[in-house]
Parts: sequence; C-alpha cells; structure tokens
Amino acid sequence: MSIRLRLALCYGALFAVIIPLLTFLSYAIHARGQYDDLDRALVVSAGHAAAEAATSASGPHLVQGKGDLEIALRLYSPNGILEESSLGTEVLTSVNPRAVLRAQAGPAYDALTQLVPPLLTQSPSPAGGAFGLLVTPEQRWRLYVLPLHGTGRASGSIEALTPLGREDASIRGFPVALPIVGLMRLVVALVGSWAIAGNALRPIAKMIHTAQSIALSRDLSRRVATPSHRDELGQLAATFNEMLASIETAYQTQQRFVADASHELRAPLTAIQGNVELLRRQRTMSEADREEALVELERESARLSRLVADLLMLARSDAGTFLKRCPLDLDAIILDAFREARHLAHGQVLQLDPFEPARVEGDEDRLKQLLLILLDNALKYTPSDGQVTLGLCRRGTDVEVRVRDTGIGIAPEDLPHVFERFYRADPARNRDLGGTGLGLSIARWIVEQHEGEVRLESQPGLGTTAMVRLPLCLCP
Ligand code: ADP
Repeated sequence: MSIRLRLALCYGALFAVIIPLLTFLSYAIHARGQYDDLDRALVVSAGHAAAEAATSASGPHLVQGKGDLEIALRLYSPNGILEESSLGTEVLTSVNPRAVLRAQAGPAYDALTQLVPPLLTQSPSPAGGAFGLLVTPEQRWRLYVLPLHGTGRASGSIEALTPLGREDASIRGFPVALPIVGLMRLVVALVGSWAIAGNALRPIAKMIHTAQSIALSRDLSRRVATPSHRDELGQLAATFNEMLASIETAYQTQQRFVADASHELRAPLTAIQGNVELLRRQRTMSEADREEALVELERESARLSRLVADLLMLARSDAGTFLKRCPLDLDAIILDAFREARHLAHGQVLQLDPFEPARVEGDEDRLKQLLLILLDNALKYTPSDGQVTLGLCRRGTDVEVRVRDTGIGIAPEDLPHVFERFYRADPARNRDLGGTGLGLSIARWIVEQHEGEVRLESQPGLGTTAMVRLPLCLCP
C-alpha cells in the first residue's frame, strides 16, 4: 500500500471518528438548550399567572404564551379538578397536579440529550413548582405545575404546558441524518486527504523517478531537483545528491585505479612475453644474450609479483580491512627493517640516528612493511655516494620515526601528489628503479590504520625526509 493511500486512510479514519462525535455533541447541546428554554418559558408563564391570581379578586386569567412559543395554561381547583383551560375547546387529558408536584419529574430530555455532560448546560430551576410530561398518541407535552397559595379559586394550582412535537421530531430525525451527513463528510475527508497527501509527496515521487532513471542510465553525473525550501524533503534531496556525488567520485577513482593497474601490469607482462618469445625462436643465440634475456625475465617477474602484492594490499585497504593490533616494541621492528634494508643499499651509507626505545600498539608485519617502503624509497632515490639515516624519538604522547636521505629530492609541484596511487615524480626513471608508484599509498594506509600521520619534506637536489608519527602505547 502506498504512503499516499495510507495517509489518506489514516486521515479518513481519524475524521470518521472525530466528525460524528463533534456533530453529535454540538447537536445534543443545541437540542438540550431548546428543551431548557421551553422549561424556562413554562416557569415564567406559570409565575405570571400565579402573580395575577394573588392580586386579582376574580382569580387568575389564562393568557396565551408570547412570541413563537406555544404555551397554554390550565387552572386546577384545590382538589385537582380542571376548571379552566386556555386551550379552549381542544380536548387534552388533564393531569393530577398533586401527583405532578409529588413526583417532581426531571427534565424532558430524551436519551440523546441526556448524554450531554451536565457541565456544558445548566437546567432551569423549578422555582416552587414541578415539571412533568404528558404523553398523548400525537406528541409529548411538557408541563409545569405551580401551586397557588391563596384562598378560594386562588388556592388551586396553575399548569403551564407546551407541545414537544417539533423538538422531538427533529431529534428523532437526527439518527437518520447523522450517518448520511457523516458519510458525506467522510468522503470529503478522504478525497481531501488523498489530494493533500499527493501534493505533499509529489517531490518524493519526482525523486524516485529521477533515481530510477539514474539507475537505468548509470549516469552518476545527474542529480535530483532540490526543492527551494529547506524542509525535510529539501534535506533528503540534498543528502541524496551528496551521496550521488560521493558515489560518482568513488566510481571515477575506481575506474582510474583499474585503468592505471592494467597499464602498470601490461609493461612487465610485455617484457616477459618478448623475452620468452626471443628465447623460444632464437635457439642459436649467444650465451651472453641468453643470460641478458633471463635476467630481464627475472627482474620483470619480480616486478610483476611486487605489483600484484601491492594491488592486493590496496584492494584490502579499500575493502575496509582492519589491522589486528597489539602492544609491541617499535625499536625492535625498526632494527629488523634496518638490517634488511642494508641488503638493498648499493653503496650508500645507512646509519641509525638518535634511537629511543618505544612501545606502540600495532601490527608487526605492516609496521615493518612501512619502514621498508620508506627505506627502499630513500635508497632508490639516493646516489651510491649518499647517506640514509633512520631515527626514532619520543614526542610527548607520540613517537616519531624519521628516514632521512641525501638523494635527488622531490620537486615542490610533485610533493602534494606522491601519496596518490601510481603517482611518480619521474615515471620513466622510477620504473627503471623498480618502483610501482604504490609504495607511499600503502604506507599512508598503514599509518592511518595505526591512528598516526605520515608526511614528506624535501628539497630537490638535497634530499628527502619521511616522518611518521604514531601514538605511544601507555600499556606495560
Ligand atoms: P615508487 O614505487 O615509484 O617509489 P612510491 O609511492 O613509493 O612509488 O613513491 C611515489 C613517488 O614519490 C616516487 O615515484 C618518487 O618519484 C617519489 N619519492 C618517494 N620517496 C622519495 C625519496 N625518498 N626521494 C625522492 N623521491 C621520492
């Protein structure tokens, strides 16, 4: 079921409950007010007649009710016999006034109006008399009997009465009218809710349409329209666009990476293929040429496997692999890497700078790989009469590892890019040196995994210093 339909049904159900309740309540209050008005008019009319009876020697005169109200008066003798009636010749059963006064009947409301909470209306007070009901086959009559406290004719009782036919008929019609009116209002509420929900959800429908067409066309450069106002829908559209932008960037990076990787893999593969072809075809080649082809084969295979290992490492980093870290002695790892790096040196002086013991929380293999990348770079880009120094010192809560060389250095315009994948300051030369252009990208990933930072400082022609800062481990 769509949100729009669900919203429309919810609103409809809410209105279906609220509207009949409010209609019922307002109608019941109105009807009850009408009954109460009649009762008040009866009390007033009977009171007037009683006052006249007290002052007139000839006894009370019966008068017609005033205004729209049809009020009749009847006069009873002290022993309850009907003596006079303003209804003229109309025959209406008389009542026993004493029985009415004894019974003290409540208001004339029917079941519907009696449901109205008493707080909402105030019933008229009987003022010495009593209300009663006279039910004839045609209609109900509301009556009010007031005893006269005089002598002779003035010692009986006055009855004021009024027909309830009109009020009763309109209330009887109410249960029929309520469902019809209620149904009409429900239909209006449903249609209105459907329209309002549709209007509110239109921007979402547009977004869905755009998202579907982006998914179909795979055109990540497209964006959904952002509503002008910055409400929840505006925020949703903006967030969706931000997400598209980051997916687009990630997708482009991935594409570039795949293109660069295939390009890098092609070079050693071509060299290997060429040499194998040469060895197969030229069976009579000299021993020296044969040796040269085999050396190149070996070198290119080694480069290929290095490249594949680096690519695997970066793929793991992209997949969000986390390193398993534990407390370890960084100085021991550095010494280990230092010893290994001595085999890579081709004449350069490799020495240790001030060296302090330090413990960090890390992955031993990856930290050693980090050191080897930095030392390998330093040795690769330093001539054989140069110098490479490795140092380790504490800096507050951190430990700093420095690999300093007196090599060719890096040009200022290249320095910001050397951590990018496959970036080489001097591509042709670096390839000859066996570089893959991935070493520093891997180094940065390892350092980030250890919550540290790595940076390079360099002066072309004078040398480069790589600095790695890692948090010290405070554990024993
Ligand atoms: P590579 O495998 O090519 O060395 P890296 O990612 O390790 O790739 O380094 C990227 C580039 O940064 C290198 O190609 C090189 O141009 C430059 N570079 C890195 N370290 C040094 C250094 N110590 N001295 C001079 N250039 C360096």
